[in-house]
Amino acid sequence: MTQESVKATFGSVVESVPKGLFIGGSWRDSSSGATIAVEDPATGEVIAHVADATVEDGRAALDAAVAAQAEWARTAPRDRGEILRDAYERIVARTDEFATLMTLEMGKTLAESRGEVAYGAEFFRWFSEEAVRVSGRWSTAPNGATRLMTMKQPVGPTLMITPWNFPLAMGTRKIGPAIAAGCTMVVKPASQTPLTMLALADLLKECGVPDGVLNVVTTSHTGDVMEPLIRDPRLRKLTFTGSTPVGRKLIEQAAEGILRVSMELGGNAPFLVFPDADLDKAVEGAMLAKMRNIGEACTAANRFYVHESLAAEFSSRLAERMGALTLGHGTEDGVDVGPLVDENARTKVGALVQDAVDKGARVLTGGKAREGAGWFYEPTVLADVPTSADLAREEIFGPVAPVTSFSDDDEAVRLANDTEFGLVAYLFTRDLSRAIRVSEELEYGMVGVNQGIVSNPAAPFGGVKQSGVGREGGFEGIEEYLETKYVGIAL
Ligand code: NAP
Repeated sequence: MTQESVKATFGSVVESVPKGLFIGGSWRDSSSGATIAVEDPATGEVIAHVADATVEDGRAALDAAVAAQAEWARTAPRDRGEILRDAYERIVARTDEFATLMTLEMGKTLAESRGEVAYGAEFFRWFSEEAVRVSGRWSTAPNGATRLMTMKQPVGPTLMITPWNFPLAMGTRKIGPAIAAGCTMVVKPASQTPLTMLALADLLKECGVPDGVLNVVTTSHTGDVMEPLIRDPRLRKLTFTGSTPVGRKLIEQAAEGILRVSMELGGNAPFLVFPDADLDKAVEGAMLAKMRNIGEACTAANRFYVHESLAAEFSSRLAERMGALTLGHGTEDGVDVGPLVDENARTKVGALVQDAVDKGARVLTGGKAREGAGWFYEPTVLADVPTSADLAREEIFGPVAPVTSFSDDDEAVRLANDTEFGLVAYLFTRDLSRAIRVSEELEYGMVGVNQGIVSNPAAPFGGVKQSGVGREGGFEGIEEYLETKYVGIAL
């Protein structure tokens, strides 16, 4: 498909998205009149311009969220749940529209974008069910003299900052529980992928979210606009998904107001293949864990540790599968892998591969950027990667699978835990005892056993160590938006 025909086919979807700031239930331009250009990473062409908020616009969004909080907290849980259920149905009905936006602004294939629509919408369905299940406790104090009533209340106005890699799901994973719990919010999507969030805000307005409950601010002056909000004493919570360095900085800013914080940060997932593993399943799992989202996922397998008896066969089978993938514009039929998000991302992937090769790794497939327009990098498998390679410590965020061999379980666990990150680990074995023992020893918030994907709205998603604090999804997800209050009653 040529760029002209992509524009003709998909242009109307982009056109239909509001491009302004969503504040207090209405759309408005930036007070400076400035806009941000949104590019298609497969071509480098500008596909839209959205409002570029100023500090004053950011404050207006928080004003609206603060003004709406008390009344929103008083709404019936069932009513909030019904809004989410309605939004779930509408997103699913408009799957192709949301998928198209994500493919155009982020680069993943339409098939992957549809997968994200299903995953992202599911958070609304899950939290529509959780909205009516918030409960407290009633107990008698040990001395029998008083009664202890424990209740849950919404935390209050929340700032949500989301990344570009999952433009819909990283938003719904926060907005869903906030609506269910009765919190108002200001959402700031990534500057590279604002269209999906703007379309979502429009949809939530249609579903009857009251004015001021949800506000969306797009800005290129990100730090300048966000910091005053984080330091504003009216804000009660900050939830962030993105890189660990930015998360660390935001925690420092949040310390001033002792804000509740939830941080979904970077990963460096190990993928362990034990000698008794089902190799077919391990290769299949590796493709998913590595190639979902072009490798641009916090959950992406970053280091493959394979028992020495299987390392050569695993590497060559993975290289065969990776080498057969077709790169191209995500809207085209037959394309498996889209571009990386921008030039910096591709340069970083190239440098990490070069460093590994300089230190002795062998390229089994790929190993270079694709010539021409777009930020494409070839799916790559590296064998015999030394543990001193930079990519053993840094998030690759691209389609590169480095394979290193190990000789026993203790070594595998030691290598897996040798990182400051702790989001997710994968392990493949047919031995149940080994699976349980190793799962317990891994210092990670999530473990995938014989599966290359762990994301599930019904499960608590999140990391330990420098991968973050807090959980999204599962029964835990709504707790992040609830405060516990205890009332002591004397008899
Ligand atoms: P990023 O650079 O940290 O940006 C994430 C968000 O933070 C964007 O909206 C960005 O806005 C904003 N931001 C940047 N600097 C800021 C500042 N000084 N103050 C306030 N906000 C600021 O991360 P990314 O490159 O978009 O995303 C990739 C990272 O996210 C990876 O490390 C990945 O592992 C992580 N991630 C983690 C999870 C998880 O659940 N653990 C899920 C997905 C992604 P602008 O776009 O305007 O710069």
